[in-house]
Amino acid sequence: MLKINEIFHSIQGESTYAGRRCVFVRLTYCNLRCTYCDTEYAFYEGVDKSIEEITDKVKSYNCNLVEITGGEPLMQEESLELMKKLCDLNFEVMLETGGSLPIKDVDNRVKIIMDLKTPSSGMMKKNLYENINFVKKSDEIKFVIGNREDYDWAKKTIEKYNLNKKCKILFSVVFNQLEPITLSEWILEDKLDVIFQLQMHKYIWEPDKRGV
Ligand code: SF4
Repeated sequence: MLKINEIFHSIQGESTYAGRRCVFVRLTYCNLRCTYCDTEYAFYEGVDKSIEEITDKVKSYNCNLVEITGGEPLMQEESLELMKKLCDLNFEVMLETGGSLPIKDVDNRVKIIMDLKTPSSGMMKKNLYENINFVKKSDEIKFVIGNREDYDWAKKTIEKYNLNKKCKILFSVVFNQLEPITLSEWILEDKLDVIFQLQMHKYIWEPDKRGV
């Protein structure tokens, strides 16, 4: 059984798949407490569901793309089994993870979107850098940037671990903290080879609306 916070159908708001229809399976619990967290309701709220109940619900939306998110999905070991099952059922599966727990046992068919937590998140010390060895070309590493210190740190981290050679890199602003135009201009000035993204769902719906 997995503790599930919510399952819903929406527009994917992040990553290089932004804009696509997607079913989101949000798992309960998170081992981190980022300063900017917008899903605190997933820390404890949830109901137990079997893998079969989850896959039945996912199938009901008639949508091929599924994201396993949280909270931190990897806190529940059975999430690995869930992702494998969804891949076996021929869904395109994405995993959104905070980057503090091992990704090495995640099914190879899953597209992993992994954060590296920046200084202003307050969770930088929790980054599990060993994960970088297991990132595939098709995965994406995301930096959520709240200020210039975060940006400079992200730049150095990309260089230090040669991240551009490993996968696509996403730069996102902390909503309502750093203006998108500011981050865009920094990226242009430095000619950084990264993908700037906005959390699209926060512009389509009210920023704090749940289930979208
Ligand atoms: S990892 Fe995600 S869910 Fe967990 S505290 Fe940070 S932003 Fe919130």
